[in-house]
Amino acid sequence: MKVHHLNCATFRPPLVAGGLVAHCLLIESDQGLVLVDTGFGMNEVTNPKGTIDPMSRKLLRPVLDITETAISHVEKRGYTADDVRHVLVTHLDLDHAGGLRDFPKATVHVLDAELEAAVNAKGTKEKARYPKAQRDGVNFRTHKAEGESWFGFEAVKDVDGLPDDILMVPLIGHTRGHTGIAVRSDGGWLLHAGDAYFYRGEIETPPSNIFALKLTARQTETIREQRLSNVERLKELKQSGEAEVFCAHDPVELARLA
Ligand SMILES: [Zn+2]
Repeated sequence: MKVHHLNCATFRPPLVAGGLVAHCLLIESDQGLVLVDTGFGMNEVTNPKGTIDPMSRKLLRPVLDITETAISHVEKRGYTADDVRHVLVTHLDLDHAGGLRDFPKATVHVLDAELEAAVNAKGTKEKARYPKAQRDGVNFRTHKAEGESWFGFEAVKDVDGLPDDILMVPLIGHTRGHTGIAVRSDGGWLLHAGDAYFYRGEIETPPSNIFALKLTARQTETIREQRLSNVERLKELKQSGEAEVFCAHDPVELARLA
């Protein structure tokens, strides 16, 4: 399968030199186009005040460039929105689910715990991370976090209706139903780790981090213990060389793979 690495949003948060990206994948499979995550879509870019809460706008400082939306990347390659048959989301935070409405014919695959967390969001903070409008009219298909083991990760499953070379790798912690997405590309296994970590150094040996992103990880985590144990397993996977591991927001990882 041919896999394209896309940037579907740019952010300039305070104290993060080089900014952040929204690393998404566009996969050309024999079952049509498949997207992994969607960054911000047309709604966020053209009407940020109507779609992104004031606090997130202040913390993320999104650049809001229409050419970065997933739909723009798809059209630039000569396809239309309807050619995207499936979208897999690592989780439903606003900077990952923004483009879902731009692909009305797609089935959106998500872990059941994540959709439940988004639909039943409680309190201002949780409601802000899961804007209801981003899910309007979206055709979800939920999956349970159960299945086989894969390079030391448990409960990994292939997804009905998708090629066997696309797997959901549950990485619970950042959110209740957060998952990695593994894709076997022409060049070997890739693992999109979503927001399981924020800075490339976190899974390097020895690990390193920058203060602002360490803080971000802490402030956005839901289940700390699980998040930290998943970072350890991602570190081991990276060290083993069995898969190319990357997260959603690190611009250096994206530049290396794009
Ligand atoms: Zn994120």
